[in-house]
Amino acid sequence: MNINNICKKIFDRLANINPTPKTELIYDSNFQLLISVMLSAQSTDKSVNSVTKILFSSYGTAEIMLNLKLLEMENLIRKIGLYHMKARNILKTCDLIVNKFGNKVPESREELESLPGVGRKTANVVLNVAFNQPTIAVDTHVFRVANRTGIAKGKNPLDVEKKLIKNIPKKYLHNAHHSLVLFGRYICTKRNPKCDQCTIKNLCEYYKKI
Ligand code: SF4
Repeated sequence: MNINNICKKIFDRLANINPTPKTELIYDSNFQLLISVMLSAQSTDKSVNSVTKILFSSYGTAEIMLNLKLLEMENLIRKIGLYHMKARNILKTCDLIVNKFGNKVPESREELESLPGVGRKTANVVLNVAFNQPTIAVDTHVFRVANRTGIAKGKNPLDVEKKLIKNIPKKYLHNAHHSLVLFGRYICTKRNPKCDQCTIKNLCEYYKKI
């Protein structure tokens, strides 16, 4: 079976389990989505949600958030890893959104990646979720699942992303990121993957070797 057929079968099965996989981040606007994704680097969605629940209740837009001093922002997000750097980047990003992008989260990859603290992965999530583009952000879960199963083996996230885009059927591209994230978070976990319960085990390279 070639890799495209394997991918089709895998995504058919993942779609059967969850036809509409969604992010577990909680947000009310494209701006809040962007900030949540920026905060989520090296942090869990659960800890991001606990911080943004308070942050967004008082500072839910770029314009309002821009009133925060750096120290105030740091105090609001200090439960999150790398909070010094994230606080600085978020305030600079708010400034650009308000003063350069007309108070809107920009829609192009180039503009998104021009925001401080926004790299390819964050841009891919925002393009996918906010602007409906078939991008695939390769986070730690996607990277692990892609390499373990063999659907996109690569040494770095960009390599894996390119192979996923090539191998996954078009109709599944839009949901691919969230499908793989949730699958990696709950089934194909970093330690002790739940292979016995896994619906794609007969298609998985790792499983064939254990
Ligand atoms: S069989 Fe195991 S390693 Fe392979 S995808 Fe399933 S959970 Fe992951």
